[in-house]
Amino acid sequence: MLPLFSDYPSLDAVRAECGRCVACTLSAGRTQTVFGAGSAQAHLMLIGHGPSLTDDQTGLPYSGPAGDLLDTALTQAGLRRDEVWITNLHKCIATKMNKQTGRAEQRPPHVEEIAACAPWLEQEILWVQPRVLVAIGGPAAQVLLGKEFQLTVQRGRWQTGPHGLPTLGIVQPTYLKRLNEHDRPAAVQGWRDLVADLRRAAERAAQPD
Ligand code: SF4
Repeated sequence: MLPLFSDYPSLDAVRAECGRCVACTLSAGRTQTVFGAGSAQAHLMLIGHGPSLTDDQTGLPYSGPAGDLLDTALTQAGLRRDEVWITNLHKCIATKMNKQTGRAEQRPPHVEEIAACAPWLEQEILWVQPRVLVAIGGPAAQVLLGKEFQLTVQRGRWQTGPHGLPTLGIVQPTYLKRLNEHDRPAAVQGWRDLVADLRRAAERAAQPD
């Protein structure tokens, strides 16, 4: 069941408050928070793991090369980015210092950081009221669907996600790009599956309640 009440008057108010959030240590390493984007009336919500280095600079989820790949997959599935809602489990980039280069590089978030950010995702779900969720990549799917979820086995199969919403786990498009460098047939098939999964999610999201 979807949440019904919010302490905020609007989704924009949620976004503004999220921009000031210091609820976890990730706030110290961000350029800015990366709140969800797209259509606030979307029936389909895609949820990735966290912002990339590019996203941290642009303030937009799935910008840069990863976003280009996702846009291509969405287009091939008959979807446009501006008709879905795209967001992440955590809104601030997770980084660590590379001692050799002296530069910040991405790292996986800690469990506590994902937990600290969960209320913002809840607010997005409350305000957008999606019919269908799509978890992008295994780590995001395991947070939304449980640790037992295995993308290799359960990708493309409907699961029950947060608030009882039908949820699909899909492969991260950037994974397929890397796979293509050493196993082109697998990458091609993986891409076909990805587009089919997105199409399946779109069709279900288009069905009235
Ligand atoms: S990751 Fe989430 S909880 Fe942590 S500071 Fe950023 S917005 Fe707040």
